Amino acid sequence: MNPFSLAGKTALVTGANAGIGRAIAVAMGQAGAHVICAGRSACDDTVALIDSAEALHLDLADPMAGQGVFAGHAIDILVNNAGIIRRADSTDFTEEDWDAVMDVNLKAVFFLSQAFARAAFAAGREGRIVNIASLLSFQGGIRVPSYTASKHGLAGITKLLANEWAARGVGVNAIAPGYIETNNTADLRADPARRQAILDRIPAGRWGQPEDIAQTAVFLAAPASRYIHGAILSVDGGWMAR
Ligand code: NAP
Repeated sequence: MNPFSLAGKTALVTGANAGIGRAIAVAMGQAGAHVICAGRSACDDTVALIDSAEALHLDLADPMAGQGVFAGHAIDILVNNAGIIRRADSTDFTEEDWDAVMDVNLKAVFFLSQAFARAAFAAGREGRIVNIASLLSFQGGIRVPSYTASKHGLAGITKLLANEWAARGVGVNAIAPGYIETNNTADLRADPARRQAILDRIPAGRWGQPEDIAQTAVFLAAPASRYIHGAILSVDGGWMAR
């Protein structure tokens, strides 16, 4: 058996309509998985790129919205990719911007993972969870307080869930993407000085593309990574080594 294959597996990817989530969904399909492309926006364009896929409406602004998802599907892989960012000086930051980001980026991830694991344990099925963390799981960032709090928290619960579930057959890990050209970084890239300053620090000499993250997600979902638990794997062109 090819340890990098996802043949026979079903993967659910949140935020699969765009950016990193779309690239992960496509890569998992290429690796042989059936992919449930979940999003608050329609995922039909992503589904069309994959041999075996279906779309699922899932708006995680309500962090408990995914509770019923695992009852109707036997899902082996959960990719918690959906995430939002709000930018403002910390002196001006609003409660709304705090709560919205924490709900999607952290609370929804925990309770979706809980529902996934409960279903896996009840069915006697093994599972893999891949969380999409951030460099701001390690660094402080600027003007993104709730995003930084949520991504530090995400790194923490990745390790906590790995500790609780590794011996029970559900592996939990995270990817910390570097600076990737998606909607998430549109504001940064629109500022030429900021874009260049970031570029100057990336040893690889370029911003990342969503596809740079996708194959790492396949690896962390595949049997090849079966002894990796609780890792926060930077895929950042060398940023954290600098
Ligand atoms: P993106 O293109 O903005 O993708 C974010 C995804 O999350 C979109 O599919 C978005 O859907 C979805 N989403 C947002 N709110 C949602 C909700 N309430 N319910 C369901 N889905 C929701 O940016 P991206 O860079 O691909 O982001 C993907 C993940 O990577 C995020 O967790 C982000 O924090 C993380 N990340 C990105 C970078 C980077 O440099 N780009 C770096 C580190 C980490 P809509 O299209 O409908 O908004």
